[in-house]
Amino acid sequence: MTDNCPNCPQKDVEPITQLRAGVEASDLYRCTGCGHIWSTNRDLRSYGQEAA
Ligand SMILES: [Zn+2]
Repeated sequence: MTDNCPNCPQKDVEPITQLRAGVEASDLYRCTGCGHIWSTNRDLRSYGQEAA
């Protein structure tokens, strides 16, 4: 899942790393526009992807 850079107007940034633990997923992003790095944690249950 892409995300928008919180530091500049760059949109649809692809994650460079995706980690998953149980029902939580953590995506690490690096903006192709400004180089800002951030991570986003998501609860997969909110996306209808129940953990096995
Ligand atoms: Zn940026």
